[in-house]
Amino acid sequence: MPLLAECWGISLPPDLLFPDTRSISRLRQKMTEMVQKLVILGLNRGTSGNIGVRCGDFFLVTPSGAGAEDMKPEDMVAMRFSGEVIGSGSPSSEWLFHRDILASRPEVGAVIHTHSRYATTLACLNREIPPFHYMIAAAGGNTIRCAPYALFGTQELSDVALQALQNRKACLLGNHGMIALGEDLTDALAVAVEVESLCEQYWGALQVGEPNILTDGEMQEVLRKFKCYGRKRQG
Ligand code: 13P
Ligand code: ZN
Repeated sequence: MPLLAECWGISLPPDLLFPDTRSISRLRQKMTEMVQKLVILGLNRGTSGNIGVRCGDFFLVTPSGAGAEDMKPEDMVAMRFSGEVIGSGSPSSEWLFHRDILASRPEVGAVIHTHSRYATTLACLNREIPPFHYMIAAAGGNTIRCAPYALFGTQELSDVALQALQNRKACLLGNHGMIALGEDLTDALAVAVEVESLCEQYWGALQVGEPNILTDGEMQEVLRKFKCYGRKRQG
């Protein structure tokens, strides 16, 4: 149902349009902190990378071409799933993949995109990460796929990313970087940190020789065990 303000043709900022103003403001704040955290952790620098977060029936995305040091909560751009900007702002050039991931994966609440060193190094080799370490399961399966190269900010990139992310919480983007998904920003960050660390380990192992690759059976066992890892035993 259209909002009254919209019927009158009045364009209001999203924090006024939606009822839970405080939680939207909190999300904007969390996104700003996360952008800074990604730089501190060495996962992003300059204007590379971006973040998207689900917010009811719309989503928030970081602004395009802004460095972490000058990004403020009010700079986060609110968008409808139709691609319309709510209020004002220039959304990340990658809003298409943020929108498409959030629209097609209801379990995902946050998307983090990085140009982190080791993930990008392997992405530049267009290399899928095999199960050389059991923690590959943290990305949801027995591999971390690498999507083929596509120009940044295009529907083509979004399409290949979505495909590489099937049944996964992370993928590499050929000649570009990585995408990590989570229920929320904290969860997505944990995936991004783990994937970057795995890429570093795989890169390191490749310097010495050919890493031992775990079998499908071994990975099935890990994936099964992961389902209850860290949870309290019932009864
Ligand atoms: P934006 O500054 O538009 O978010 O672009 C950064 C980026 O990583 C493009 O892939
Ligand atoms: Zn990028």
